[in-house]
Amino acid sequence: TTKHEWRQFNRSRVYMSDLESALHYSLRVELSTHATISGQDLRAVKDYISILAKYFPGRPVVKKLLQSVDKWLEERGDSELPYSALKDMLDNTAQVPDAVLPEGVRWVGCQGTQPHFRGYPCSMWMLFHVLTVQAIKSPGTDPLEVLRAMREYVHSFFGCRACASHFEAMAAESMNNVRTLSTAALWLWSRHNRVNNRLAGALSEDPMFPKLQWPPPDLCPQCHGVRSGEHYWMQQEVLAFLRRYFSSDRILLDYLD
Ligand code: FAD
Repeated sequence: TTKHEWRQFNRSRVYMSDLESALHYSLRVELSTHATISGQDLRAVKDYISILAKYFPGRPVVKKLLQSVDKWLEERGDSELPYSALKDMLDNTAQVPDAVLPEGVRWVGCQGTQPHFRGYPCSMWMLFHVLTVQAIKSPGTDPLEVLRAMREYVHSFFGCRACASHFEAMAAESMNNVRTLSTAALWLWSRHNRVNNRLAGALSEDPMFPKLQWPPPDLCPQCHGVRSGEHYWMQQEVLAFLRRYFSSDRILLDYLD
């Protein structure tokens, strides 16, 4: 990566540049380490691209690219997928009109003060929060669709293997208790806070972005309650906050080409 100026951003907003960078990195960098994809890994790729095609609240050209890759994968019956074939689709070598997945990463809300801080893992959290919130707008769909796809993706491909085993343990413990689309979004929020709690003060923490129980009171005062001196979360307020914070119409398009 080349050195660049710090990009000014609003810490309480979500940036499309981070979400598109997450897509580029996961689909073109992380998946490319698997020369051929089969079995459970192939299921994971298909389910991941399927939820992206359904719920990624992207620019029209990006949505079109994701939908064309999804359709191609679903129609392709083979039990093995050479990564090179998937790459041709991601790069749209067939030149489907108005379909693009931009190349490269450009972190904005996920910038770190050092290159090894934040970036991709930050953007994957953002992406999955956005997708769980988008799915709430499709009532009647399987409440576990997004979480299951995330679980499979992380298990098969997420480069941080310690992260993957921690996440798998949390998923195995309680993910299947989720019954509604709203509780799916809340489940991911509360697991992310568990991870924040575990990592607070760790060497991996960017000192400019300390791990907090999120959203902190300055972002959402109404999310916090105190009973007999004990803090508790007002879950309905947290849900309303997540739905607003990660909503497609509030995602900022700054720094995109
Ligand atoms: P992140 O935790 O990445 O959060 C990104 C942004 O999301 C924050 O800036 C904030 O705006 C928002 N946010 C914060 N908390 C919440 C919440 N509860 N709900 C909704 N939004 C929130 N690193 C390890 O060292 N060990 C691990 O075991 C580990 N497991 C991981 C598992 C997964 C599935 C992922 C995606 C990442 C994992 N990581 C792990 C990486 C780690 O969680 C952070 O992503 C990384 O340290 C960068 O932190 P960050 O400061 O950018 O904030």
